[in-house]
Amino acid sequence: MKLLVSVSRKQGKYPIIAQVVKETGVLVNVERAMIDSHEGELLIDVPDDSCELVRQKIAGLGASVRILDRGIRIDTRECVDCGACISICPQEVFSFGDDWGILVEEEKCVICGKCVIACPHSALFLSGEIPERPF
Ligand code: SF4
Ligand code: SF4
Repeated sequence: MKLLVSVSRKQGKYPIIAQVVKETGVLVNVERAMIDSHEGELLIDVPDDSCELVRQKIAGLGASVRILDRGIRIDTRECVDCGACISICPQEVFSFGDDWGILVEEEKCVICGKCVIACPHSALFLSGEIPERPF
């Protein structure tokens, strides 16, 4: 299960993830980290059965944390099968099917967001519901 952790520099340079590993004994895999002088955002992966324990521990240390229970989702009404997402995805989530339509293996997604930016038809989503669109 993936968790998105947001930390503020107001919390200082406290090693939150190291503390969580130490106190819970859960091995945490950091898949992505973006940290600047003001704030940081980390995408971590933990075993499903330890997810709630880790979430509570991180929240208790003052960081905000959100469980990401789904990977990328596609609005098939908007997709034009251009293949831009295939070339940019580092996880090979997308491929062409026999009919040259786009296939999605959501379980491979590491929620990097690159495809969302690259899609020329705004057909890809990482969070929330796929919006209703007037047709
Ligand atoms: S980049 Fe967007 S429009 Fe193109 S194939 Fe991927 S989801 Fe479809
Ligand atoms: S969010 Fe990243 S890993 Fe997931 S499908 Fe898009 S490009 Fe691939």
